[in-house]
Formats: sequence, structure tokens, C-alpha cells
Amino acid sequence: MKEKKNRKRFNNSRRSNFIKLVKIVSLLVVIGIIAFIGINKGINSFANMATSQNSDKKDVIENPSEDEKKEFGEVPLINDNRGVPVICFHSINDDPSVKSPIIISKDKFRTQLQAIKDNGYTTLTMAQLNDYLFKGKAIPEKSVVLTFDDGYRDNYTNVFPILKEFNMNATIFVIQSYLDRDGYLTTDQVKELSSSGIIDIESHTISHIDLPTMSYEDQLKELKNSKEKLESLINKPIISIAYPEGKYNDDTKKAFSEVGYSMGFTTERGYADRDDNSAELNRICVDYTYKPKDILKVLKNLKK
Ligand SMILES: [Zn+2]
Repeated sequence: MKEKKNRKRFNNSRRSNFIKLVKIVSLLVVIGIIAFIGINKGINSFANMATSQNSDKKDVIENPSEDEKKEFGEVPLINDNRGVPVICFHSINDDPSVKSPIIISKDKFRTQLQAIKDNGYTTLTMAQLNDYLFKGKAIPEKSVVLTFDDGYRDNYTNVFPILKEFNMNATIFVIQSYLDRDGYLTTDQVKELSSSGIIDIESHTISHIDLPTMSYEDQLKELKNSKEKLESLINKPIISIAYPEGKYNDDTKKAFSEVGYSMGFTTERGYADRDDNSAELNRICVDYTYKPKDILKVLKNLKK
């Protein structure tokens, strides 16, 4: 009887040991599976990181030519289709009597440019942008184009000195018939800006009229006459146009080709890249609400 009881106790303890063992083994198996998945994920993400780093490296031109170095200095150059942010400003003015979202104070503008400079961006000229987009030429990895619409007089009094100080290039799209009017650039200022080598003067039409409301013939006149009159004023080719309010239609594009512009700018938000039609290049319009960090976000993160 006693022996029977002992055997039963022995059997019971063997069973409970067996259950413990099963529990431990299954726990180990579960841990093993989790560890396996974890390590695998780690390896994969590491591998992904390595490839993306490699592909980033591949994008930067390893041995820039002497011409490229001379043009852009010792900055990393790229020649892929990542595109360029073309920023659109209007008026930079502290006059409290005029209020509009497109008017940015001088101090604010200075902080925006400071952020662009501190982060190592190169400001491209119109010719450099055109060469990159349509002639397969390289540009700095960090490139931006600064443009100003309408040709306000403050572009001469307020913008020009700051650009000189920061050693930056920019483009002013002037409304040809507005030159010498109150608040707009004078013809002498336009000539001086153009010959400074810092500013490209380009067309914003003759009269700033809503192009899609006009006939093809009238649009053609706006595009052709502004180009010719500005060319004879500055004695340089006018290669680009910004459509008033960014508005255009098929006739505008037809006139654009007929007149022989190289680049046409809209106000549609996005980067200008090599997939864009040359008559429909995107820009990013900024206003007085843009802090330096918002400008940098536009330069780094904006997708098409
Ligand atoms: Zn305009």
C-alpha cells in the first residue's frame, strides 16, 4: 500500500517535471522565434540603410570637371532628376501702410536668406537652371532658385543690398509696361540690376493681364513684345517668363514656343524638374508667415 502510494507520488512528480520541461521548451521556442524575426528585421533594415547610403553616394559626382569646380566651387554636385525648388517672392518692405500676405519685412527676409546660406545652399541663375533641366548639366546637391514677381521698387532698395551681402543670385520677373511707375523698378535700376551679374531680369508680360482670358494673338503680343523690349533694354537675352498669377492655357504654351522662351514658370507648388514641360515649371510661393524653418522644410522635404 505504502509502495503503491510512493509510486503514485513518484509518477505525479515525474508528470509535473515533464509539464515544466514542456513549458520551458515552448517558452524557449517562442523566444527563439521572436529573436529570429527581430534579427532578420534588423539585418534587413541595415541592408536597406546600406543600399540607400550607397545610392546617395552614387548620386554625388565623384570627380567634378575643372569647369564644374570653377562654376560652383567645392560643393557636392549631382546630375539626377531630384529637381530644384524655385522660390517665388514678391515685395520685401517695411512700409506699414501697405498690408498684404505677399509683403515680407526686411528682417524676416534676412532670416529666411540666412537659413538658406547657413545650410549651404547655392542660388542658381536662370542659365544654370536651364542648363540643369534641359542640357544635362550638373548642379550643386543643395540648389535653390530665388525669384521675385512684378518688379517692385523695393527689389532694388531692399532686396539687392541683402543679396549682395549674402553673395546670392536671384531673378526678377518684371512687368514691362510698369517700369518707371510709382512703386515699381525704374528702367535705370533694371539696367543696373542686370549688369550687376547677381540679378537676372526676365519677363512677367507687358501688362500683367490674366493670359487665359486673352486670344492667342493677344497672348502672343504679351509674350513677344515683353521679351523684345526687355532684351533691348538690358542688352541680354530674355530666356524665361512667369505667367501673371501663374495662369496659362494651351494658347499660352503655343505662344511660349512660338516666341522662343526656354522656361515658363507657373505658381503650381512643386520642384522644377526634368520631367516638367519647359512651359510649365513649378514654383513655391512664400509669404510673410514663412519662418526660416518653414523655408528649410520647403528646400528639404517638398515632394512633387
Ligand atoms: Zn505678378
